[in-house]
Amino acid sequence: MIVTFSTNVFVAVTNVCRNACAYCGFRARSPDDAFIVRVEDVERLFAECRGVATEALFSAGERPECAVGFDFRRMIADVCGEECSLVEYTVILCEIAIKHGLLPHTNIGVLSEQELMRLKDVNASMGLMLETVADIDAHRNSPGKHPKERLRTIEHAGRLKIPFTTGILVGIGEEESDRIASLEAIAAIHRKFGHIQEVIIQPFAPKANTPFANRNPPMFEEVLRCVKWAREILPDDVAIQAPPNLISSAAELRALIDAGVSDLGGISAKTHDYINPEAPWPSEKNLRRMIEPHILRERLPIYPKFIRKCWFSDKIRHLIEKYADSDGFKLPQKKSQ
Ligand code: SF4
Repeated sequence: MIVTFSTNVFVAVTNVCRNACAYCGFRARSPDDAFIVRVEDVERLFAECRGVATEALFSAGERPECAVGFDFRRMIADVCGEECSLVEYTVILCEIAIKHGLLPHTNIGVLSEQELMRLKDVNASMGLMLETVADIDAHRNSPGKHPKERLRTIEHAGRLKIPFTTGILVGIGEEESDRIASLEAIAAIHRKFGHIQEVIIQPFAPKANTPFANRNPPMFEEVLRCVKWAREILPDDVAIQAPPNLISSAAELRALIDAGVSDLGGISAKTHDYINPEAPWPSEKNLRRMIEPHILRERLPIYPKFIRKCWFSDKIRHLIEKYADSDGFKLPQKKSQ
C-alpha cells in the first residue's frame, strides 16, 4: 500500500492566543513569553530550506488580537512596522514562502469567509482541527473551540473550494461516541463540498505545567479503534492521517496503516513540531523503514485530486507545475542543502 507524507518547514507565527485549552503547552501565558516570528527570521529559515522541503506550514494561536492581557497590535507593529492583523501578516509570510519555492499551508484557527478568501490566494491548502463536537471541560476557556465555530470555518473553506485538512483530538475528555459524532460531522461537510483532503487522528500528548499535565494519553487500542471508525465513516476519497511522531513504535504505525491510515502528514528536517516539541519527527529514511512493506511516497500540501481539479491560484501554479509529477505526487528530486 502507498502511504504519503510531505516535507515541510514549520513556522509558528505567534503563540499569543485568545483561547486557553487545558492541554495546551504552546500558548503564551504572559507577555514575557509571547512571540511573533520576524520576517527576517522567516527569510533566513526559508533560504536554508531551499530544496529540502516543499511545504511551509504556518501555525499560530487563534485570534491573538482578542487575547486578554496582550497588546498584540503593538507586538505586530513592532515586527512589521505597521499595525496589521494576524491574517494580513500571515499573507505576507506566505508570499515570502512562495518566493522561496515553498507551498504554504496555513492553520491559524477559526477564520471568517473573507479571511479564508484572503489566504486562499497564497495557500496550497489550509487546515483547522475540529478536535471534537463534544462540550468538554478542556475547552471551558476557549471560545474558538466551540464546535459550531469550527464547523462553520470548515464549511466556509468548502464553499471557497480550499483543499482542507481537519481532524480530531483523541483523549481530551470526550467519550468514544463523541469521536464517532465528530467524524460523522466531518463526513457530512465533505459530502456537501468535497474539499476535505485528509482527517488527522491525533492522540492527546500531555504537556508539563498545564492542567492536563498528569492526564494519561489515550491507549493505543483507542487510537486504533478510532482509525477504524474513521475509515468506515469517512468517504473513500478522504485520507486518514496519523502523526508519526506521536505513535510510539513501528509496529503500532503499521497497525494503524492496516486499519486505514494512508498519510503521515508533514515531517521536517529543519524545524521541530512546536505543538508537540517533546516528540521529534522521524527522518524520511526511518519512516520508510518503519512502515515496510508499505511504500512511502512524498506528496505536496495539496493532494493530487485537487491539483487535477485546479483548486489553486495562479500565484502558486508555477510551484505546483515544478514539483508535481503526472500523478500529482511530488516529483523525485535531488535534494540539496
Ligand atoms: S491549543 Fe491552540 S487554540 Fe488552544 S490554547 Fe493552545 S494555541 Fe490556543
